[in-house]
Amino acid sequence: RAKKEGRSGFQFYAESMNESASERLRMEHDLRLAPERGELILYYQPQISLTTGEITGAEALVRWRHPQHGLIPPDRFIPLAEETGLIVSIGDWVLGEACRQAAIWSDAKRPVRIAVNVSARQFAQETLTRRVQETLAAHGLDASLLGLELTEGMLMHNRAQSVQTMHGMKALGVELSVDDFGMGYSSLAYLRDFPLDVLKIDRSFVLRVAEDRTDRALVETLIGLGRALELTVVAEGVETESQSQCLKDLGCEIVQGYLFSRPLPPDQFEARLLSGERVT
Ligand code: C2E
Ligand code: MG
Ligand code: MG
Ligand code: MG
Repeated sequence: RAKKEGRSGFQFYAESMNESASERLRMEHDLRLAPERGELILYYQPQISLTTGEITGAEALVRWRHPQHGLIPPDRFIPLAEETGLIVSIGDWVLGEACRQAAIWSDAKRPVRIAVNVSARQFAQETLTRRVQETLAAHGLDASLLGLELTEGMLMHNRAQSVQTMHGMKALGVELSVDDFGMGYSSLAYLRDFPLDVLKIDRSFVLRVAEDRTDRALVETLIGLGRALELTVVAEGVETESQSQCLKDLGCEIVQGYLFSRPLPPDQFEARLLSGERVT
């Protein structure tokens, strides 16, 4: 399919899993050089309080601005980066860039917590906590202005090590979220042992929350679970007013989704942030 659609545009990378070996190699080669070539960029998606309508934070989402293939979304290159180990240097770049940017906004008198997605390989590295500490120090960023998003699968993979790593992060003062919650298989007993701050309800539950009674009940249960564990609950993928209203009725505190804003390039996010505009 990639061949049929031609080599212009990012269809070239559209289905990395089905690409020929040579295309994969070429992509890997390009991706290896992307950080140093300045081809990676972070977009920021606001997280909004349903109570105040204010921006409470943002999630940093990486994009690859390829000179020939344009803006490539993460789903098209993160899997390859994971497989090849390139995710470690990409993850390092993401962490540094998010801290650099958060420090700038903090100095501009509008501190905002930026949450970064951590990959499984990054999380498995024993040096991660030290890397985070060094990066915060290098940019003079208060640890409370950095969040890390982890997934259930990562946490469950090596539970003892996960708990240890997370305690190290907590000691620094970084906020920890469990991302895409509900899609994995966490047992409640283990969840209790992870020092988490935020539970992010996966988009797939939000999709039909306003129409489907079962989904509504599931979301209600997830929100109750978050509350029982004393976590802040964030719903992702909120696209409609009715979803937003429903989440509010169910007691969800923070939302993220196209209804409020798409992920924005830094200058646009900054304009939004400094305008102080309320969106609910
Ligand atoms: P995620 O962490 O669950 O991020 C949320 C994804 O949902 C983002 O896609 C975001 O643009 C999208 N989204 C937000 N609101 C809506 C909405 O209302 N409707 C719909 N349909 N989608 C919405 P994006 O930016 O394409 O990122 C996809 C995934 O790639 C992320 O899922 C995350 O797993 C991964 N990713 C992104 N940036 C990084 C990164 O810097 N490092 C790592 N390791 N993974 C990353
Ligand atoms: Mg995320
Ligand atoms: Mg997510
Ligand atoms: Mg998701």
